[in-house]
Amino acid sequence: MDILIAGGGIGGLAAALTLSRNGHRVRVFDDRAPDAADVGAGIQLSPNATRVLASWGLGEAVDAQAFYPQRISLRDGRTRRRLMSLTLGEKLRARHGFPYLHIHRGDMRRILLEAVIAACGDVVSAGTRVTGLSQVEGRPRLHLADGMHAEGDVVIGADGLRSAIRHVLFGADRPRFTGYVAWRGLADAARARHLNIEPEAASFMAPGAHAVTYFVRGGHAVNFVGVFERTDPPEEIWENEGARAMLARDMAPFHEDLRELSSLIERPLLWPLFDRMALPRWSAGCATLLGDACHPMLPFLAQGACMAIEDAAVLARCLENVSGANAISGALQRYEQARKARTARVQAEARAQGKFFHAKATPMRGLTRTIMGLGSGLAPNLALSRYDWLWGHDALTAALPA
Ligand SMILES: Cc1cc2nc3c(=O)[nH]c(=O)nc-3n(C[C@H](O)[C@H](O)[C@H](O)COP(=O)(O)OP(=O)(O)OC[C@H]3O[C@@H](n4cnc5c(N)ncnc54)[C@H](O)[C@@H]3O)c2cc1C
Repeated sequence: MDILIAGGGIGGLAAALTLSRNGHRVRVFDDRAPDAADVGAGIQLSPNATRVLASWGLGEAVDAQAFYPQRISLRDGRTRRRLMSLTLGEKLRARHGFPYLHIHRGDMRRILLEAVIAACGDVVSAGTRVTGLSQVEGRPRLHLADGMHAEGDVVIGADGLRSAIRHVLFGADRPRFTGYVAWRGLADAARARHLNIEPEAASFMAPGAHAVTYFVRGGHAVNFVGVFERTDPPEEIWENEGARAMLARDMAPFHEDLRELSSLIERPLLWPLFDRMALPRWSAGCATLLGDACHPMLPFLAQGACMAIEDAAVLARCLENVSGANAISGALQRYEQARKARTARVQAEARAQGKFFHAKATPMRGLTRTIMGLGSGLAPNLALSRYDWLWGHDALTAALPA
């Protein structure tokens, strides 16, 4: 089939790769300039996603850029004291067969792009904005900003939070500002060595805020995220003196090491966080949505890109051996049925995680955290098993609706 993909982020490229490997002709339209840098620095990928990447033969390329954390830690933001931890490393790899890792978002996107080009040539049109979609007699057509259009058998809207395809298919509802903003950026690990950042994914909790640190680029850079509460969504703010002063003010409740780390970020970016209530439908006719276009989520479970990768794997399975508009439409319904409950659960759990991270300190909360800390120390396997539903999921073999 001819498959048109709006959006060449991690989700769109993942879909392009697996669909082209299945023999489809794929074209990707992405509005970013070919040389645009990927903003947002690091992402964490859990075994539910690394399993899929490995099945696409990307294990080695990812390994060359990855950092493998030893654990996930929850820490007190003021003292840095560890409150609880989950062992990752070989223990988690043995449990699920695939690793938990950190990678720079730009590296991940480049690995996918190179694999797409190797599989089917130069099919990604950069700097090409999709403006609309029409479907005439079962054939979808993408409208492009330059006035041209592209016609195919299937359209996939992988065009992110403010998806133009979602807008055409399901109307103009807006993503919801969650009340959180995130400072994001990278610090040179050599300059931060004296801060003794541990080889872990660490979340430092403070009332109404939390900060996350982990290594990327094989340990050469520290990824920093600082999440704070705001009543209104701010404009995105790039590095300037005002931004640095605002970040320093926001970081005031945190331990001095974290404050210093935040001051070492090379290009701090303030990022309002949006999500969306679960959409009732993702597909109409021969068009569907994937990734943040249909289920944007808070980053507090580190799953948005992982879910987009899972989506791509399931969508490719649903489109195997399908032809004709009716069969395509049926396959897209199966895809959304297969994915909706899981992604809605991850959206909800990510929201709940935010409340937990930002809870005000009360004696009861202190007790809960102490019990959780003791539990994770005394019964590490039990603590890990809480995430089996998420990290143990196999999108490559999970049952599909009939
Ligand atoms: C602070 C933060 C931390 C995060 N950490 C993690 C993490 O640790 N692990 C994880 O799994 N996820 C994480 N995420 C989530 C993750 O970044 C997203 O869920 C993921 O990037 C979604 O991929 P996508 O391809 O669906 O969308 P996007 O990455 O948004 O890609 C969409 C693409 O479409 C293009 N586009 C948009 N509109 C158009 C148009 N009209 N025409 C053509 N092209 C268009 C865009 O330029 C972009 O290239 C984090 C998010 C945030 C904000």
